[in-house]
Amino acid sequence: MTTVVANHFGGRHVLVTGGAGFLGSHLCEALLGRGARVTCWDNESTGSEENVAHLAVHPGFTYRPCDVTGPLPSVEHADVVMHLASIASPLAYARLPIDTLRSGSAGTLQMLELAAKHDARFVVSSTSEVYGDPEVHPQHEGYWGHVNPVGPRAVYDESKRFAEAAVVGARREWGVDAGIVRIFNTYGPRMAVDDGRVVPTFLDQAVRGLPLTVAGDGSQTRSLCYVDDTVEALVRMAACDVPGPVNVGNPDEHTILELAQVVVALTGSSSPIEHVPMPEDDPQRRRPDITRARTELGWEPTVPLRDGLRRTLDWYLARSPVR
Ligand code: NAD
Ligand code: UDP
Repeated sequence: MTTVVANHFGGRHVLVTGGAGFLGSHLCEALLGRGARVTCWDNESTGSEENVAHLAVHPGFTYRPCDVTGPLPSVEHADVVMHLASIASPLAYARLPIDTLRSGSAGTLQMLELAAKHDARFVVSSTSEVYGDPEVHPQHEGYWGHVNPVGPRAVYDESKRFAEAAVVGARREWGVDAGIVRIFNTYGPRMAVDDGRVVPTFLDQAVRGLPLTVAGDGSQTRSLCYVDDTVEALVRMAACDVPGPVNVGNPDEHTILELAQVVVALTGSSSPIEHVPMPEDDPQRRRPDITRARTELGWEPTVPLRDGLRRTLDWYLARSPVR
């Protein structure tokens, strides 16, 4: 079991790709809080330097705009490489299919090469999307998935499946201490309001009194994990040599219609619910089996849905007060 205490990283250098995004920025913050020095690389395609602006004063933090699929800047010896750089939302990967494929494939190989060169621990943020529209429920790591390789979600799903295979290859051929985390839907402050994912979309709609756009009849499910919980699991993966894949998510499963109703109640909104067409290949059910995370990382989520939504709403309101 891995126990990660404050100052665990005592001066170790962690390179975080995609560090100016939603999850990455929280991860940089958590690592600095545990005593690491952190270098953050991001091409700002869906993230923003603004997400890490508050870390600029920290003497252990360095931000460098960089595309992980292109020529890489030089970097001092890294002890750990956390590879999060990827387009992540369905709207964004529909808009940027080739960039999505490149980040998962060429980007992951480049970062694995760098980890090999530095003899660094490597962790890739894979996804529950490798299970596609799953026929096994809940999803455990031994399940191979049900992905449509030519559907609208394929560029993301297959890029992450490639990334996982690349990790396995780099372990075998280059001896990289590489691990895979399969992250399930995570939400929280700093998620881009316009990136199309369900929590920021519903919160924004509810606060502005607009209809909540529930896809289909809303009976499809997701299991939503608050960002602090997911980041704690990432930090634990950074600190150990568990190869994974390890599911990281909150098994508390809800329909999307229930989520809309919770958001309306939480915000006190008068927004109606509007049913909109179901996107093609939208997974019908999703819930992680987190037995492996419990046993190998000593991790489980602690933040209930309503608390996490409340914290996200507070952040949203502080940032953009109701007009
Ligand atoms: P995000 O869009 O906020 O963050 C991704 C970051 O990667 C952005 O800052 C973006 O600018 C950067 N990026 C993209 N391509 C890049 C490239 N080629 N070079 C450098 N930077 C690049 O999304 P997120 O939700 O924070 O996702 C972070 C990681 O976690 C991604 O790998 C994503 O696939 C994975 N993940 C997230 C979730 C979730 O629910 N949030 C679920 C499963 C997996
Ligand atoms: N969704 C919805 N309305 C929206 C945005 C998303 O009903 O405005 C649904 C979407 O169809 C899916 C679920 O919410 O069933 C989660 O979508 P998201 O894009 O957040 O994540 P993913 O589909 O990648 O799990």
